[in-house]
Amino acid sequence: VEAMRNGLGELIDSGGQFLCEDMPELMALAKARGKTFVETYVDGEFITHPSMSVEEAERTYRIAMAIRERMNGIAPDDPSITGLTVATWLERQKDMADAKAAFRSMIEGLWCLALDKVPLWYLIDNDRRITNEVFELQYFLRETMQSLADDLAGDLGDRLRLGEPATRIEHGQQGVRVVSARGVIEARKALIALPPATAAKLEFAPALPAELAKALGVWESGAVIKILVRYARPFWRERGLRGMVMWRNQPGLFACDGSKDLDHAALIVFVGGPLALRWHELGQTALRAEVTARLVKALGPEAADIVDFNLRDWTHDRWSGGAYSDLIIDATARNAERTILAGAPPVHFASSEVSPSFPAYVEGAIVAGRIAAGKILADLQSAIATSASGS
Ligand SMILES: Cc1cc2nc3c(=O)[nH]c(=O)nc-3n(C[C@H](O)[C@H](O)[C@H](O)COP(=O)(O)OP(=O)(O)OC[C@H]3O[C@@H](n4cnc5c(N)ncnc54)[C@H](O)[C@@H]3O)c2cc1C
Repeated sequence: VEAMRNGLGELIDSGGQFLCEDMPELMALAKARGKTFVETYVDGEFITHPSMSVEEAERTYRIAMAIRERMNGIAPDDPSITGLTVATWLERQKDMADAKAAFRSMIEGLWCLALDKVPLWYLIDNDRRITNEVFELQYFLRETMQSLADDLAGDLGDRLRLGEPATRIEHGQQGVRVVSARGVIEARKALIALPPATAAKLEFAPALPAELAKALGVWESGAVIKILVRYARPFWRERGLRGMVMWRNQPGLFACDGSKDLDHAALIVFVGGPLALRWHELGQTALRAEVTARLVKALGPEAADIVDFNLRDWTHDRWSGGAYSDLIIDATARNAERTILAGAPPVHFASSEVSPSFPAYVEGAIVAGRIAAGKILADLQSAIATSASGS
């Protein structure tokens, strides 16, 4: 999560932003911190481009969702899917080409990696943990999602050291030593709360057990560019549109209404997966021209009357690897998550990727963090109890 100022000086979420009532930990946190929930505007028609009739678009969406349900109905450990990628499995399905294209666009837009890289068992296992029944973009926070991280940071006071990346994790007399350019922190235990591919970049002394090092190395980060386009008015609403566009000829391109209120009309455009990697090479001016041209074709000439265009390119991001998460790309790495969760005490790992619920979401990060912290606390308490009893 991250907030930045756009060209109008407004604070916007350039990273994770949306939440829904089926995400209990995040909802509770946002409520406890007194945040203002903005409901995402979803009245009116949803557009597919190149355009289809409303009935045809709905039918295609229903079939694409049916393909997703069919996929999730396969047991991840079913021997008949060993070695299959999502792309190979999709090729074998007998659905209409349009529905398959919509499925591909949906999946590449959500997981942000080419389908021919993703093992089928992994996508099934991952998707089964994303259990929301209401729309996942149901709400966002007026104060930004990042404001929650700021609030939590505030509770930690000067114990939080920002701008000081850990570079090396060593075993020490007390347990563990975390080394940064500015010094060393000694502790009994360390929780490395980084996505696996980013955690793999740290230096460990002694080296991590081979199985754990391998488990951290089987992930690839997704690629996302997130764009907030501000307008003077939500002109699409005046035409009975909800501002949501899915491009059928550009898998991974998606837009939705991100207006905080009528005075802050905005569309959010997500570019995900292989398309993000290609557009990453374009540079800001050409990328803006591409996005604007596509918005104009889908929503009409007023889409060119842009008040501010804010772009955050997360592809190959130094500190997160990319977005929305890392994905396992090694079809044989069935135990990778379990191995990471076991860690190498006193060094433990947690990140949204390894969460039992909502992996790749903020909710998943909280759930995974709580589980790992709970285990560490239990270990420390049992160590204290053992030494108190003198045994
Ligand atoms: C553009 C975008 C849109 C998204 N939209 C949504 C959304 O709408 N809803 C949703 O639920 N999720 C969304 N996500 C996903 C969500 O943000 C992530 O799932 C979540 O933030 C993962 O949390 P984490 O704590 O596991 O990892 P991270 O958020 O990656 O946190 C890791 C932290 O560790 C820091 N770090 C890295 N290396 C080091 C080091 N060596 N030493 C010290 N610190 C280090 C990083 O700077 C970072 O602050 C989005 C993500 C992006 C990028």
